[in-house]
Amino acid sequence: MAAVTRLVKRASPSLSVSSTAARRLFCSESSSPAPPQDHFHAPQRKDPKDRNVQWVFLGCPGVGKGTYASRLCNLIGVPHIATGDLVRHELASKGPLSSQLSEIVNQGKLVSDEIIISLLSKRLADGEAKDETGFILDGFPRTISQAEILERVIDIDLVVNLKLQEEALLAKCLGRRICNQCGGNFNVASIDVKGENGSPGMSMAPLLPPAHCMSKLITRSDDTEAVVKERLRIYNEMSKPVEEFYRSRGKLLEFNLPGGIPESWPKLLQALNLDDYEEKRSAAA
Ligand code: ADP
Repeated sequence: MAAVTRLVKRASPSLSVSSTAARRLFCSESSSPAPPQDHFHAPQRKDPKDRNVQWVFLGCPGVGKGTYASRLCNLIGVPHIATGDLVRHELASKGPLSSQLSEIVNQGKLVSDEIIISLLSKRLADGEAKDETGFILDGFPRTISQAEILERVIDIDLVVNLKLQEEALLAKCLGRRICNQCGGNFNVASIDVKGENGSPGMSMAPLLPPAHCMSKLITRSDDTEAVVKERLRIYNEMSKPVEEFYRSRGKLLEFNLPGGIPESWPKLLQALNLDDYEEKRSAAA
């Protein structure tokens, strides 16, 4: 444990191992076999009926993982944990890791497993301290080794794989805008992809910000054409195999986005069997 903690501290000196969830993740990073759970004083894994959902959202850059995951989190009442947001937060904090991270992110490369796991562990520890239960993970796991580490410590109930034609992904990333005041995500791209080889065409209207956000819009520094292309290439090489990892475990739900939010959101709720969630919840109350 001490060796692993040292390893993580070296990779990310600003972070410390402070909770059972964090310790469990760190220790699974060790090359030695995962020690028994009670060695870390970890809480027992909860029965799914005694906790909220533990889901993962997979999908290429620009597919809309953040948009749909955060909407679902609001609906179900679980935290949305996006590792990309954790990385950007660390970057903005100008801590000891930020210059190293900015170079990696702005080249479209993946941050090392050690750093990403330490950021995620810290986030889980903070959630544990606040008695959070359940989550939707967005952007993690992104490599087979991250998926293996996660599998050793946390039960994932379901993995949603969002899919969109590649042509739309680049346009969506380039059209992405964020309000630097409220943090809202918008998109100025108007997408119209022709149907091909039996697959249907698809159009997506821009998602424009309200007037008060208009002058505060910023673009992510990694949403340039060259960097998005590199992120897509890395996704196909490093993250696609994660789909198969979960498919072979019977946990993968494939979801082809039929269009923008108005078309896709109700269909996604149907696919997740949540279309009458609000009604069921108020009936149960
Ligand atoms: P994307 O739009 O490419 O899905 P994200 O917002 O999820 O972008 O992530 C932004 C960047 O943060 C990634 O390009 C990568 O550098 C880093 N990152 C996020 N999650 C991970 C992860 N699980 N493993 C490694 N790097 C990550």
